[in-house]
Amino acid sequence: MSNKLVLVLNCGSSSLKFAVINANNGDEVISGLAECFNLPDARMKWKIAGEKGATHLPANSAHKEAISYIVEEIIKKEEGLAEQFVAVGHRVVHGGEQFTKSVVITPEVCKGINECASLAPLHNPAAIMGIRAARDAFPELPQVAVFDTAFHQSMPATSFLYALPYHLYKEKGIRRYGMHGTSHLFVSREAAKALDKPISETNVISAHLGNGGSVCAIKNGQCVDTSMGMTPLAGLVMGTRCGDIDPSIIEHLVTREGYSVSGVMDMLQKQSGLLGISGISSDFRDIQNACEEGNQQAILARDIFCYRLAKYIAGYAVPLGRIDALVFTGGIGENSDLVRNKVLELLTVFGYQVDAEKNKATILGKQGTITKENSPIAMVIPTNEEWVIAQDSAALVTA
Ligand code: ADP
Repeated sequence: MSNKLVLVLNCGSSSLKFAVINANNGDEVISGLAECFNLPDARMKWKIAGEKGATHLPANSAHKEAISYIVEEIIKKEEGLAEQFVAVGHRVVHGGEQFTKSVVITPEVCKGINECASLAPLHNPAAIMGIRAARDAFPELPQVAVFDTAFHQSMPATSFLYALPYHLYKEKGIRRYGMHGTSHLFVSREAAKALDKPISETNVISAHLGNGGSVCAIKNGQCVDTSMGMTPLAGLVMGTRCGDIDPSIIEHLVTREGYSVSGVMDMLQKQSGLLGISGISSDFRDIQNACEEGNQQAILARDIFCYRLAKYIAGYAVPLGRIDALVFTGGIGENSDLVRNKVLELLTVFGYQVDAEKNKATILGKQGTITKENSPIAMVIPTNEEWVIAQDSAALVTA
């Protein structure tokens, strides 16, 4: 089978993750990160065939300059590489209700992505910048948009509607959209493979636990509920985000405590979560280390993190009825046997029995079941969003 290479671009507001992926088997030919956009310190690092590279970009560089460097100085220096590209695949954070699956990018699609920008004001404009720059660099190649929200569009209204006046949904699009869809899709498919069942008959709860985190209830391969909301602020306790809170807290802080609305929102997004409770760090490794040293605030942060997660998982027994597998993924889910152990202990009502040895051994990119033979199944599946983007892109352009 000939290589089907896809340049995968994930444009954030001040950074850009990139990779060249073989859509046939997920092999990563190149991976890298450009960051500190619009600052004097703009820079890039990458890995190609195991070799690491790094450079400073001209001061105040952003998406266009970074993509031009990737193409001219990295890709084109590898003989015959660009000729194997079949598409450029873009991760787009918000597809609103317009995009229920990946699409080949046309001027209409760009207009649609722009229309959804009010729901993801930092991310969607960055994706558009990436699309423009990639089109300039590879005018002959088709470009594909893969939406973080698309997988969640199968949610029923009972899951996606807030109990607000209905016209806010109909007229303003205020509803739950959910994020991390590409990751939940990937790990649920892999779980079905591991269980040797068709995805159309498999029920999975997947917990994607990275700096951001979300849980998703997947029934017969389709998302039926998820913890993130209209934006990625809702749901679980995250690195710096608060997850679910009583919305009256915002009004209380503004009217009684002298905060501005933007000050409160900044606090909920950047100074809350693990960082806010622990006062130490948003990084789970730091929290774990501090817990080992007996730091009470770190222990509290860890325990609230696990408790909130377990409550969400238990709640998703409602839409699923039967849970074939509980899957942990993302940096914390893939590496913290401690979190997995605590969460499964909190879920003993479901009968989970952790296999301590398997749980400890399933880290650093390993996939495996971490429960005992006669227990309901919990497993770890390393996520691979880039491969999904490459697969969708290659499938759409070679269809
Ligand atoms: P992002 O959401 O930015 O993609 P990742 O999926 O890489 O994030 O997850 C980052 C989180 O994973 C951080 O909180 C980090 O501390 C945590 N993490 C990474 N390795 C470990 C580990 N060995 N043990 C515990 N947590 C880990």
